[in-house]
Formats: sequence, C-alpha cells, structure tokens
Amino acid sequence: MDSKPHNKLHIYFLPMMSHGHIIPMVDMARLFARRGVKATLILTPLNAAHASKTIDRDRELGMEIAIRLISFPSAEVGLPKDIENHSSITSPEMSQKMYKATELLQQPVENLLEEDSPDCLVADVFFPWASDVANKRGIPRLVFYGTSAYALCVYHVLNQQKPYKNIESDSEVFVLPNLPNKIKMTKRQLPDYLRDGTENHLTKLIEKITESEVTSYGVVINSFHELESAYSELYSKVIGRKVWHVGPVSLCNREIEDKVHRGSKISISEHECLTWLDSKKPNSVLYVCFGSLSYFSNVQLLEIAMGLENSGREFIWVVRKEKKTNEEEDWEEWLPEGFEKRLEGKGFIIRGWAPQVLILDHAAIGGFMTHCGWNSMLEGVTAGVPLIAWPLFAEQFYNEKLVTDILRIGVGVGAQEWCRWPDESKIYVQRKDIEKAVVQLMVGEEAEEHRSRARALGEMAKKAVQKGGSSYNYLSALLEELKLNNN
Ligand code: UDP
Repeated sequence: MDSKPHNKLHIYFLPMMSHGHIIPMVDMARLFARRGVKATLILTPLNAAHASKTIDRDRELGMEIAIRLISFPSAEVGLPKDIENHSSITSPEMSQKMYKATELLQQPVENLLEEDSPDCLVADVFFPWASDVANKRGIPRLVFYGTSAYALCVYHVLNQQKPYKNIESDSEVFVLPNLPNKIKMTKRQLPDYLRDGTENHLTKLIEKITESEVTSYGVVINSFHELESAYSELYSKVIGRKVWHVGPVSLCNREIEDKVHRGSKISISEHECLTWLDSKKPNSVLYVCFGSLSYFSNVQLLEIAMGLENSGREFIWVVRKEKKTNEEEDWEEWLPEGFEKRLEGKGFIIRGWAPQVLILDHAAIGGFMTHCGWNSMLEGVTAGVPLIAWPLFAEQFYNEKLVTDILRIGVGVGAQEWCRWPDESKIYVQRKDIEKAVVQLMVGEEAEEHRSRARALGEMAKKAVQKGGSSYNYLSALLEELKLNNN
C-alpha cells in the first residue's frame, strides 16, 4: 500500500440501493466520521436525496463526511428512470433488473476510487466485484452484509451442510447442525433456490459473493457482541475472516431530526405522531411495520386489520400504500369498512413511511410486530421493546428463532412459509393468530418476562456503543488496524 503523508483515514462506503442497506450504511459512515475518519458515501441521485439533509447537518457539526454521486443505470437494464431503490420494484422480473444494474455500477465506482484514492472500501455484500477492485488499488475491502453474525452462521450451515436435503415434506421440521443453539426450520421457510436447487441469477450472484468474501479483508457487522457472542466467534472461525461488530449503528441518531430523516420522506409529521404517542400510557401501544420491501395482498391486509381490532390493543400500523385521493375518500379495498372511524384515537395508520426509530424510542411503545428484517429487529432490541415475529423472506425466518427461542424477547405470529411475492388470494396468517400473538405479547406474565429481557438487551446495546463498550472498542481496533496498514 502507498504510504500517505496524512494521518486521517479516508473510507468509502458503498451500500446496495435498498433502504435496509442504505440506512445502516449512512449511519455507519456517520459513526466512522465521528471517530475522526473522512467518510465518503457513494449513492445514486434519488437515494442521496434522502440522506443529504442528515449528512449536511453532520458537516455543519464539523464532521468530514460527503456524498459522491453515481448515476443508476435504470435505462440500461430496462427499468423506469425513477427506479433506483429495491423498495420501488413490484415484480421478480424487476428485481432481476435491479441486480443487473448493481453489476453495472463497477466502472463508475472504479472511476471514483481512481479520483479520490481512499484508504479503504466498505462495500455491500451485493457488490462481489468490490474485493477485486479494492485489491487492485491495494486497499482493504470490508464487507457489509446488513445482517447479523447469527444469520450468517445459519446461512452457512444451510448452504454447506444442506440439512434439508433428505427431508421429504415441506412442513417436516429439521434441526440445523453444529450451531450453538438448537434451531429448527422447515423447507417452506427456505428460498426456492435452496429448496429446489434451481440455478438463477441470484444463485450465480451468491456464488460470486462467497468467492469475494474470501478475498475481502474482513466483515463489519451492524450488531453488538453481547447480543450474539457465540455466533460472532463461530462466524469468524468458520469463514476465517476478521469480524468487527460496530452497532447498533442506529444509535448515532440522537436528535429528533436525525431520527426523522432516515430512509424515505415520512408520510406524517413527527409532531402529529409524537402528540398521539404522548397521550398514551407507557408500554401500551403496539407498533406494526414490515420494513421497506414487504408486499401484502389486500386479503392479508384485511386480516391484519381485523386481528389488530380484535386484540383490543392500541396500535400504530404502517402500511406501504399510497395515501387515498379525494375521489376514493371513504373506501380502500384492504381496510374493513369504518375501521379508522371505529378505532379513532386507538389505532393510527401511517400510509407510506414512518419515522420508525423515533416511534420505537417512545415510552408508549410496548411491542413491535416486525417482519424481522435485521435493521428493524435490531432497532426494536435497541429500544428495549419485545417483538412479534412475522417473517416473510430472506433471513427473516432465522431471525424469528433468535427472537422466540434464543433471546426469548417475543412471540411468533405463526408465519409458515417464505413469501416474497404472495399469492393475491391467499391468507398466510389468520386474524385469530394475529390477535392471539398481540394479546400474548402485550399482556400477562409472559409478556412481562419478554419485556424485561428486551429491556435488558436495550441497555446492553446502548452500553456497547458508549466509550469503552464492546462496539466502541471494536471500532477503535479496526481504525487502528487500518491506520497501521496505511502507514
Ligand atoms: N423504516 C422506516 N420507516 C418505515 C419502514 C422502514 O424508517 O416506514 C426503516 C427501518 O427503521 C429500517 C429499514 O427501514 O432501518 C428497514 O430495514 P429492515 O432490515 O428492517 O427491512 P427491509 O426493508 O430491508 O426488509
């Protein structure tokens, strides 16, 4: 590596263009900048627009942090020009095009590296070419997965040992071998490419990812060691790569403004949201949100509405639907008739994007129904809130077991099968099961046990990022190592 006259590290951060990857990567870049690093985020224009306010504020506070733009090759892959984020896609075909576009980002990223000569590249796992690009320039590439060491271990066991291989039925339970806990799964909870062994664009990408992992310098994880110590050790042993737990990175959002401007533009005012929550008793409100990619059919949404109403609990429910226009004023197919009127003051629907971390941190929130996307799960844990796990796809079914069986901070809603693009006419989880899970999480002795374990983890999370905490120390060690490499 070239010897540099300056002592300040310059680190590039390249997230996959999806909220679940951009949000933590932006937080991570800000965290590094607070620790004296010059941080540069590489984003496409529409994605940068969501992060720019926060980055500007950090710059005003004296941090050396910037965004460099690359254009997203939507037209080249046949996507509409306003699509730059996985949350905007509506079909498997579009998903494939998004991944294709991701491959095409290599040259523009190489050009930026050439211009800026950073000392390190933290690149999302979905850019397997990043290891080669960094190696070519003689700088370390750190991989960011956007998930936990726990999920990476589960994935590794599934992929390498294929414990599902001789299982005949989709609903038969099998145990994952060689893990610190007894984790049970069924084939229905696995993606098609594992279940059927079919080859597609994703399996090819995964192969490249696995190869690039080996040539990377190490892995940065948005998690904290105490949450998953056994898995953290196992993961570095199994993969043979260095691992740094530097999270929860969401804790770098201390001010209300920071918590409000994460991801997309919020669909309600923070003031309205906080006033509503302020009027509620501590731990009385369930927050229901399924991340930035989930898609539910109208029949399933209707079932959720009825389950929530029948539970008798107060709730905030985030639905990824556009706001009603005036012409359709009183009726939306996915809502039971008169629902909002009946539940006025008791149930609050946010159509679009919610200030999730702001909501979770409010004392009125007593539970979180989540799809178990890693960011949401970790944000729930960090806020010390117990969870209802409703996994949909990706590593969410593994995460469900972390919630219910390992950390024991919540209950499952009973989701049984992987569903990225659900059948429009099928109800995957019945209203009675939703109602049961909500009541189980929010009231009674078991609920209190879940809540107190969740609260203890929330405290640990906060300690981890404070001076002398495990994540703080991991980051210090990483930065020291990178500086040594750089001299
Ligand atoms: N999020 C949010 N408001 C919403 C929906 C999601 O702020 O209305 C944020 C959430 O806080 C998390 C991210 O979007 O940081 C979603 O990431 P996650 O890994 O939970 O799920 P994904 O969207 O990748 O499925």
